[in-house]
Amino acid sequence: MSEKIRVKTPIVEMDGDEMTRIMWQMVKDKLLLPYLDMETEYYDLGLKNRDETDDQVTIDSARAIMKYKVGVKCATITPNADRVEEYGLKKQWDSPNGTIRGMLDGTVFRAPILVKNIKPAVANWKKPIHIGRHAYGDIYKNQEIKVTGPGIGELVFTPSGGGEPIRKVIHEFTVPGIIQGIHNTEPSIRSFARACFTYAYDQKIDCWFGTKDTVSKTYDAEFRNIFQEEFDANWKDKFEAAGIEYFFTLIDDAVARVMKSEGGMLWACKNYDGDVMSDMLASANGSLAMMTSVLVSPQGYFEYEAAHGTVQKHYYKHLAGEKTSTNSMALIFAWTGCLKKRAELDGTPEVGEFARKIEDAALETVESGIMTGDLMLVADPDSNNRRVYTEEFIDCIRQNLEKKL
Ligand code: NAP
Ligand code: MG
Repeated sequence: MSEKIRVKTPIVEMDGDEMTRIMWQMVKDKLLLPYLDMETEYYDLGLKNRDETDDQVTIDSARAIMKYKVGVKCATITPNADRVEEYGLKKQWDSPNGTIRGMLDGTVFRAPILVKNIKPAVANWKKPIHIGRHAYGDIYKNQEIKVTGPGIGELVFTPSGGGEPIRKVIHEFTVPGIIQGIHNTEPSIRSFARACFTYAYDQKIDCWFGTKDTVSKTYDAEFRNIFQEEFDANWKDKFEAAGIEYFFTLIDDAVARVMKSEGGMLWACKNYDGDVMSDMLASANGSLAMMTSVLVSPQGYFEYEAAHGTVQKHYYKHLAGEKTSTNSMALIFAWTGCLKKRAELDGTPEVGEFARKIEDAALETVESGIMTGDLMLVADPDSNNRRVYTEEFIDCIRQNLEKKL
């Protein structure tokens, strides 16, 4: 191929840390830059630069996504006490993902990357099950009391503008026990609903949602009502035209139906359900490196990333001069997801077509038995299977890509 494919609008690129930073560069050098005439708005979210800029770089990168609408992010370290020491940090900076999610008011959607030689644990799952997890409130922002003996546990709401407080008795204790208070907010639930409908419509897949509104007649019912209102007001016609549907059912019924389904839907989950179900889904599909992850905001901003972290242990091996067998699939799909979205917004189908060729080349590589160590553990056994190193894997993908150009 002689001429490079032009990407019309700059891509917001957020570099990251450790092993994923190493792979990020390889993916760019080997799979993207030789073929694409592409400008990026580059933000270095590596921990050192976040520290040097007092985390301003993270804020700037989120603003750039608001401007250009599409970004791609490498995995980044969320510093804990060990990292403060390791990097000599000024302070324990917040999680960049949390900061960006907060600024974009977004929801994270995840879906497995399916290949023929890695069977999901549930045999009838033929298409990816996408999960959208509400990432605000409920038990993650709770207050709890350990009750030591007899007494009354109460729920009280005191209006700021004056007026009588509302009180409800949770339980009159005669013995020791526990109580808990949780909350959510109307705007957060509404944003979540909008992000879910935006994602399902973008992917042209049905949207399923489940709560326990038969038991939680106010709290869970509010989730159900807001979803329905939002759907009726803004999405019903679009969904009908696209031939997709919104389906609400009780959460336990949703779980039962998902297990029996062939997949291919977005499963919108309340915070706790999403926490639990996304881990189930990841393990049922073999590896976190075989998952796509995208942050979608209700305003239509998209940030693509890998679902896994910076693969710290592999990075230390790499630093010690050892070869690693680290899987770059999720990073590659973050880039292709971003390019496909850019192509759609720019009206440049040739960019989207090229991104799909990279994806096909990557899938074919794994399906031909060439894979990294994490996949050897979960792929169908075959005498042709070959474990390759990090860079070799990307080189093999490039060879397959070359055949398509
Ligand atoms: P991790 O980076 O996801 O890695 C955990 C383990 O999973 C690895 O040790 C490796 O197992 C396996 N693994 C993950 N990705 C892999 C890949 N691409 N190829 C092969 N194996 C892979 O999680 P962590 O070690 O707990 O966290 C490391 C750092 O990442 C932390 O500083 C955390 O803050 C950060 N983090 C960032 C994000 C994000 O930015 N999106 C998300 C999560 C964590 P083996 O060692 O058994 O091979
Ligand atoms: Mg979890």
